[in-house]
Amino acid sequence: MNDTNIAQNLIRYIEAGFPILYLNTFEEASANRIIRSVAREKRIIEWSSSYGYAEYSCSAGKYLVPPCRMGLNAVLEQKIGDDNEFQNSIFVIRDAHVALEDSATVAYLKELAIRISESVECTVILLSSIVTIPRELENFITILELDYLTEQDIHGLIQDFCKEYGINILDGLLEEMSLAFKGLTAFEIHNILNLAYSSNGELTKGDLKLIFDQKQQKIRKSGILEMIPVKEGLDDIGGLENLKSWLKKKASVIHNRKQAETFGVDTPKGVLIAGIPGCGKSLNAKAAASLFEVPLLRMDMGRLMGKYVGESEGNMRKAIALAEAISPCVLWVDELEKAFAGIGSGGSGSEVATRLFGNFLTWMQEKESPAFVVATANDITKLPPELLRKGRFDEIFYVGLPNEQERKYIFEIHIKKRRPSDLKKIDTVTLAARTKGYSGADIEGVVKDGIENAFADGRAELSTQDIVNAISNTHSLSEIMKDSLDKMSKLYETHKFKNASR
Ligand code: ATP
Repeated sequence: MNDTNIAQNLIRYIEAGFPILYLNTFEEASANRIIRSVAREKRIIEWSSSYGYAEYSCSAGKYLVPPCRMGLNAVLEQKIGDDNEFQNSIFVIRDAHVALEDSATVAYLKELAIRISESVECTVILLSSIVTIPRELENFITILELDYLTEQDIHGLIQDFCKEYGINILDGLLEEMSLAFKGLTAFEIHNILNLAYSSNGELTKGDLKLIFDQKQQKIRKSGILEMIPVKEGLDDIGGLENLKSWLKKKASVIHNRKQAETFGVDTPKGVLIAGIPGCGKSLNAKAAASLFEVPLLRMDMGRLMGKYVGESEGNMRKAIALAEAISPCVLWVDELEKAFAGIGSGGSGSEVATRLFGNFLTWMQEKESPAFVVATANDITKLPPELLRKGRFDEIFYVGLPNEQERKYIFEIHIKKRRPSDLKKIDTVTLAARTKGYSGADIEGVVKDGIENAFADGRAELSTQDIVNAISNTHSLSEIMKDSLDKMSKLYETHKFKNASR
């Protein structure tokens, strides 16, 4: 929703007498502007934890009561007995997520909401970047979201900044910066531009690093998404040729988004990679981001779950909005089955999981933004069948244990990474033949052990025998988990998922 849509929605809700609106936004300044634009003849009563209480008249264009230090409960207690105090007003409470932690505040707001429903002409607007809804207020609150800035908005902001300071910015850099700033607020963008400008009096390509660092911090602070630095590429993956060539095809669409769209190609939605642990699922999520040349955001489903009513859904919405704002990106949903486990099993945990799942499905279904989802899962038996239906993901791949040829490639990759000069002397054909039932992670493990043994024995080079010795001291994944791996392979076959290997 853009500012005009939000303003129109606000007017509609205010006129319809909705008692409490929760404006979920990082952009406090734009929220302020929008609220003042819709207030018309109404007084705006404001409260914030930093400057306290104030009253503003939009028609007079000035404060009727200048900001004064007063606690929110004191304001509510003083005014709640007299309906006239709130009549014809909008009551804006900033930092709402903090204020709502106080049970007395919640009780006052409930009383005010009841009075608004009966006779008082007032709308309470709760402003915060975090949605927390106490159960007592659940029936009185409607959530509205403010959008992040678009690439075009950011483009305009940078141009204004350059005009103000007389900076000449190259066309290509302007585009790159607009994209890099996505997901940050106008305030944050302005601060970074100031910082970049003050260091050398211009804006240069080097400043992109500053933007990246700031964005990484912001994402970390959001607590539900993590920006993962990516070093791995497709060349770090041994085998899985079907999956790799599928990703390459998607990369050509993502790199030429506009032309592809004009040609009639759909924006790629994402892929579900399911299968055996340690066989390269996470590696593919990382390689996809480097192949697409976009940031990798990891969504931690465990961290989405909150303790308040609606908090988990709010977190999911926030994570999705942030990923969309930052897009093009790869959104890596790790251990998908963990989030949706327990659906349909009854109990309150199951209810939240079901609602979260519904939100996620709808988003996947309707998604048009270039936030490409890579979901990874070990155990698809725990996933709801709706998720596996066509239309959610572009494709579902099954990753099994590597075959002999693939094991040879995986050995080569890991030996080359650590002992490049020894690679040509190592008999990787023999190693591959001796490691039937080993996962990629197992192979990496024996290479590491072999190298450590060679070093501990004081030898200058790594030999095939060092790795063979490490193999004889290791139990492969298929030995350890034989039954469950067999079961899993059968299941993937019956579901007719695409095999990631050729
Ligand atoms: P999990 O489900 O346990 O998270 P996963 O399938 O996501 O497992 P990865 O994290 O991708 O497994 O793999 C673990 C490590 O094993 C990787 O960092 C990589 O070093 C190695 N590895 C696994 N598969 C391959 C492969 N096909 N080629 C090269 N290395 C591999």
